[in-house]
Amino acid sequence: MTRLLSTTIAGSLPKPSWLADPAHQLAAPWVAPPEGLSEAIHDAVRLALLDQESVGIDIVTDGEQARRHYIWAFLEGLTGIDTNTTTAKLTRGERATLQNVARVVGDVARPSAVMVEALRFAQAHTRRPVKVALPGPMTLVDSTVDEYYGADPKTLAFRWAKLLNAEARALADAGASVIQFDEPCFTAFPDEVEVWGIEALEAAAAGVSCKTAVHICYSYGIPAVTEWKARNTKWDQYTAILPLLAKSSIQQVSVECAASRVDISVLAHVRDMDVLLGVIDVGTEVVETPELVAARIRAALAYVSPERLYPCTDCGLVPRSRAAALGKLWALAEGAAIARRELP
Ligand code: ZN
Repeated sequence: MTRLLSTTIAGSLPKPSWLADPAHQLAAPWVAPPEGLSEAIHDAVRLALLDQESVGIDIVTDGEQARRHYIWAFLEGLTGIDTNTTTAKLTRGERATLQNVARVVGDVARPSAVMVEALRFAQAHTRRPVKVALPGPMTLVDSTVDEYYGADPKTLAFRWAKLLNAEARALADAGASVIQFDEPCFTAFPDEVEVWGIEALEAAAAGVSCKTAVHICYSYGIPAVTEWKARNTKWDQYTAILPLLAKSSIQQVSVECAASRVDISVLAHVRDMDVLLGVIDVGTEVVETPELVAARIRAALAYVSPERLYPCTDCGLVPRSRAAALGKLWALAEGAAIARRELP
């Protein structure tokens, strides 16, 4: 499966306008008619796989085409959750992102697998290894409102971790190549990461039979976040988080290094892990040149060996146009090819 500098993506790709309304990026209403929705989703997944294969992405995803909203997609498979009557909540700490979040209204349980069918469909339409992303426990705590348990964040995180672990094990048993937990909240709450964040993450990943990854970005490339990134001057969150992660049982870490102003030397802390290096800025329609992507890979190769380095996107591409996203996939693959040719 693995050539040096194998490429992958964080997870999501933009949805076709015949599937979901592109004016709403992160919670786009379906525009496909209900009776044709399943077929439309399947068609969109096939296109997402084809786009990745056509440019040469090595480890693919289904582009998260079946998920109307990233967090709700998992929550909708559980009981005790209301994803219909949501409530506004200020999330992500200093980044202060106002989100409509689902409410915990009863004892949360997972009566059956949520994403295994979607994985099986993707596997049936590609020969490449398929990665599946799930929200991490801390991100689920931040992205929901607890109206039932009255519990503290740590207790809630471990409750989420148990449910996520059952799903992750089922996905791995169904042949997923990598299970990735997305924790954009790690950079928002680095103190909690040390106290309980890593421990909850490890509980979610315990006993999973494939590789496990954690995606630690600075949130989606949406205007509110890119404005925060433009004025933010404190970029030392990875300095606190990565040494803790290096001691954990998680095998891969996905970091945002294109749009952030993180000092790349911080990657020395995770040189014994697989590093999914963000070399594609997902907050702009401007498509990187392959030369720029190769330069970003070269900079990281000073700290991480090519066996451990996986060029990747900074985060999901769902907020981008389909044309820009496809261009960025191409730039990712071509930039990695340039860097690969330079290896001894
Ligand atoms: Zn992200």
